[in-house]
Amino acid sequence: MRENPEAIKSVCILGGGTAGWMAASALAHKLQGLPVSVTLIESEEIGTVGVGEATLPHIRSFNAALNIDEVTFMKATEATFKLGIEFCNWGRIGDRYIHPFGDYGTPIDGIPFYQYWLRLKQMGEAGRLDTYAYPIAIAEANRFRHPASDPAQIESTFGYAYQFDAGRYAAFLRRFAEGHGVIRHEGKVVDCQLNPDNGHVAALKLDNGAVIAADLFVDCSGFRGLLIEQALKTGYDDWSQWLPCNRAVAVPTESRGGLTPFTRATALEAGWQWRIPLQHRTGNGHVYCSSFISDEAAHARLLGNLDAPTLADPRQLYFTTGRRRQFWNRNVVAIGLAAGFLEPLESTSIHLIQEGITELLQIFPDKHFRQSDIDEYNRRMGVNFERVRDFLLLHYVATQRDDTEMWRYFRNMTLPDSLEEKIQAWLTRGHLIRYEFGVFLPPSWVAVMLGQNLIPRHYDPRVDRLSSDEVRRAGDALKQRVSAAATATPDHGAYIRKMGAASDTGPLLAKGA
Ligand SMILES: Cc1cc2nc3c(=O)[nH]c(=O)nc-3n(C[C@H](O)[C@H](O)[C@H](O)COP(=O)(O)OP(=O)(O)OC[C@H]3O[C@@H](n4cnc5c(N)ncnc54)[C@H](O)[C@@H]3O)c2cc1C
Repeated sequence: MRENPEAIKSVCILGGGTAGWMAASALAHKLQGLPVSVTLIESEEIGTVGVGEATLPHIRSFNAALNIDEVTFMKATEATFKLGIEFCNWGRIGDRYIHPFGDYGTPIDGIPFYQYWLRLKQMGEAGRLDTYAYPIAIAEANRFRHPASDPAQIESTFGYAYQFDAGRYAAFLRRFAEGHGVIRHEGKVVDCQLNPDNGHVAALKLDNGAVIAADLFVDCSGFRGLLIEQALKTGYDDWSQWLPCNRAVAVPTESRGGLTPFTRATALEAGWQWRIPLQHRTGNGHVYCSSFISDEAAHARLLGNLDAPTLADPRQLYFTTGRRRQFWNRNVVAIGLAAGFLEPLESTSIHLIQEGITELLQIFPDKHFRQSDIDEYNRRMGVNFERVRDFLLLHYVATQRDDTEMWRYFRNMTLPDSLEEKIQAWLTRGHLIRYEFGVFLPPSWVAVMLGQNLIPRHYDPRVDRLSSDEVRRAGDALKQRVSAAATATPDHGAYIRKMGAASDTGPLLAKGA
């Protein structure tokens, strides 16, 4: 191997939450064979944020890149499959739709099916859009199977993610990372030493007296941003004017009823409530805005809205939505909550961790830390955060609700230009502006816009190549294909058991679900 004196020889990750152990696992795996040491510092006394149970399909590529076996991972983390998110009461009280990780049928003549649905709607003959999507049909029936590989099959028209125990995922990755040579230090960082010449972080001092020096630091210390903010004073862009929810209360409950292969997000008066079914328990929480509801009332609202007995005391969390002004500053890269937080409505945080790690590996520096690389990383991550912000905000503004102060606040809001343009293009003829970056592809935007009654004035004119009868027949045929395929799909719990992914302790294995 060629010796490069400029190469990074040591990486120190501060924090052992989901972000820290994801970063440690990926760096240890991807830098294998190079003379780079990876260390991680965490403090059991401080602990982790302890939430973060719902994910996006991209996590599969993260696990796959580390050669993590799906069955082993699901057993270890009490994971269930996730086909999307069910949104209740968002457009109007009583409304319900699922944002699926997949599409509505398949395109006809290269035009997405929803355009034909818009024409059916103008004809007064459109059924519920959800009935044309295979992933939604199986989600509603608590069924699951892996996607088919043949693109001609309707069973290929979706992706999937997981709902898992975040603490167990971090522990699982810790075993993986330590198995790949990561050295873990237990202790609380009490001092951060800066290099007086260039302002870089030089070393961290622990409460047990140990001093850990490194070339590159990855700040995964959570909301406090110990290195990126407290040491380097990077600054934070507060996005509360767009995403004002700033608190959450979380509580686990017993696993009851069917094992739904989807997360539920129910809009409330001053925020929304999540329900995430895992194998061994269900995660619940109320995200709310403290300007519109007190903590006591928010707790009571959550506890009064549960479908099973609680397993622990409610846990209170505080946050400010927004992003660090620079994700990468000098020799510190902030990943996870240290980088920013946009509230958990579409389960995007773990995905943004993954993006941060992937981009870091793509632009892995040497000891020169070239500013052009740092700027490029910050640009890409900034765009990713903005896209997520716009998509989350869409849920709050594409609504007819004005029944409480919070919903009226959103009605009177000035939107970011990027979102305003996207909505206007949609309303004219159902056209979706495509982005350079951004996790959510057109089908996701379609799901939320149509699910929350943002109906375009016109459909794509090319749809008129078909006669009314042909459009009607295409719609009926798709609905039938979806329904027949869904009926032949196995039960979600039974499928997990059959593939051998039921955890050794969870009720799924013992009782059946
Ligand atoms: C209400 C809520 C719900 C969420 N739901 C989801 C979801 O469904 N899906 C999703 O993708 N994301 C979700 N998230 C986000 C998700 O929880 C986080 O992205 C994820 O847990 C990563 O957190 P982290 O590792 O950055 O920080 P943390 O979990 O806070 O970890 C910080 C680490 O730093 C260590 N540390 C801090 N200070 C020191 C010190 N001085 N010395 C030594 N160690 C230190 C701590 O010990 C800990 O190990 C949610 C977040 C909230 C607030």
